[in-house]
Amino acid sequence: MSKYIFVTGGVLSSLGKGVTSASIATLLQHSGLRVSMVKIDPYINVDPGTMSPFEHGEVFVTEDGAETDLDIGNYERFLNKNLNKKNNFTTGQIYLSVIEKERRGDYLGKTVQIIPHITDEIKRRIKDVAKDVDVVVVELGGTVGDIEGLPFLEAVRQIKHEVGKNNAMFVHVTLIPYIKAAGELKTKPTQHSVQELRRIGITPHMIVARTEKPLPKALKEKLADSCDIDRDSVIEAVDAPTIYQVPLNFLNQDILKPIARQLDLGELYPDMSEWNFLVKKIISPQKEVKIAFVGKYLKLKESYKSLIEALIHSGAHLDMKVNIDWVDSESLEKMSDEEIKERFSEVSGILVPGGFGERGVDGKLKAIKYARENKVPYLGICLGMQLAVIEFARNILGLKYANSQEFDPDTSEPVVYLIDEFIDASGQKQIRTHTSPLGGTMRLGGYECLIKQGTKLYEAYKKDRVIERHRHRYEVNSKYEKELEKHGMIVSGKSKEGLIEAVELKNHPWFVGVQFHPEFSNKLKNPNRVIMSFVENAYKCKK
Ligand code: GLN
Repeated sequence: MSKYIFVTGGVLSSLGKGVTSASIATLLQHSGLRVSMVKIDPYINVDPGTMSPFEHGEVFVTEDGAETDLDIGNYERFLNKNLNKKNNFTTGQIYLSVIEKERRGDYLGKTVQIIPHITDEIKRRIKDVAKDVDVVVVELGGTVGDIEGLPFLEAVRQIKHEVGKNNAMFVHVTLIPYIKAAGELKTKPTQHSVQELRRIGITPHMIVARTEKPLPKALKEKLADSCDIDRDSVIEAVDAPTIYQVPLNFLNQDILKPIARQLDLGELYPDMSEWNFLVKKIISPQKEVKIAFVGKYLKLKESYKSLIEALIHSGAHLDMKVNIDWVDSESLEKMSDEEIKERFSEVSGILVPGGFGERGVDGKLKAIKYARENKVPYLGICLGMQLAVIEFARNILGLKYANSQEFDPDTSEPVVYLIDEFIDASGQKQIRTHTSPLGGTMRLGGYECLIKQGTKLYEAYKKDRVIERHRHRYEVNSKYEKELEKHGMIVSGKSKEGLIEAVELKNHPWFVGVQFHPEFSNKLKNPNRVIMSFVENAYKCKK
């Protein structure tokens, strides 16, 4: 019988429910249990693919090509395993499938309602993930009390009944605010949100209390008594120096004891030695390096979540702190060559991440030109690779009008272009044009990249084929391949069908562009090799 842990949020959002859920799952996994996770998002969008990065942070892409919530990225990085489409769903997806069933006539003339039809669909999806594992940790997005969250709470309440008392557990993540003027930690908001949960039939078994200050024993006991939970089941979550410290902090408070008791799991002894080692390296590494991160979604750093984490992970494995120098690409646009030089004078590597739309592109091109000419290690990801090719075509091949059809659909030199036909990850033919809808028309998910031996890319991966994840509409145009290679740009990776997946420069210490997003396959225990190689080479060229 699979066990279920449901994680709800109280008081307000942004309390780190995702990290809490992932931390609990990680401890169980390191105790030898087979674990999976589900993130439920109560919004109506079918997936976050069409949301602005400013609105929702990064869109994380799974290997099977789903555009998911960024928490799925956290889960993968913690659990060191790939998740898929099934591990994240939204209200939009639930309603879409129920309405499709209704249109097909599957409900045999019944009136279709939230209970039971919507709740049944929710339960079906959660159980579907649970069936292959010992424990599934389900994070319910939003805060208890939100209208959108009600059907989900109702569904998980029903699951509790269906699977029996010792197979389901509720963990409530809340805030214990510290009121400066009174010099006091306050439990009232938590009491209220627990009351709200109980009103709908859910009694939490554990409270994870986010707090700025450690909770005194008496306060923990008060919280336990007033919320009707066991005294060993109030877990304090103070701000940690790194999110990877959180499972260790939980373990120090014996979090597994009440979990094992509730779920009948016997004694659990997680082996966190490797994890512990990596956390130590994140917190106090020996070496340091500074990388310029040239992006345009800098107002919300969550837009680059996976990449930021990947740099941290590379650092952990290289015993190095990777300091990020955030560079707003638009700020480079009006700078002279001298000013650009000055701006980058202290960095050892330049990174241009993925992006969409024309804004900020000229600034990125300037950063790339600087990296190429001054032999500064460069990593270009997706748009960062496409722009590296455009820069090279303009300034080395002399193709003044070289451009991407994304920015100029009628460009006379479409060095980056829209392919109108390709075979997608599931082997199906996809057709697209400039007028195709934006949702679901990108090259998405894991594709094989064949790597040329003797290249920097090969040196990084030490393999001649890798699977990496994609999220883009445009491609580097093979028509220019010969000309690019003649002038010193090497095509170091290609897809099976011959699409250009990676480029690099011959006469440069380390200049690599990849069409895929290496940050999506990156894990704490298994850092991505291109990103790590970039950091390593930046350090070697350190000024
Ligand atoms: N905008 C580019 C494309 O769609 C690059 C996308 C990206 O960087 N993820 O091809």
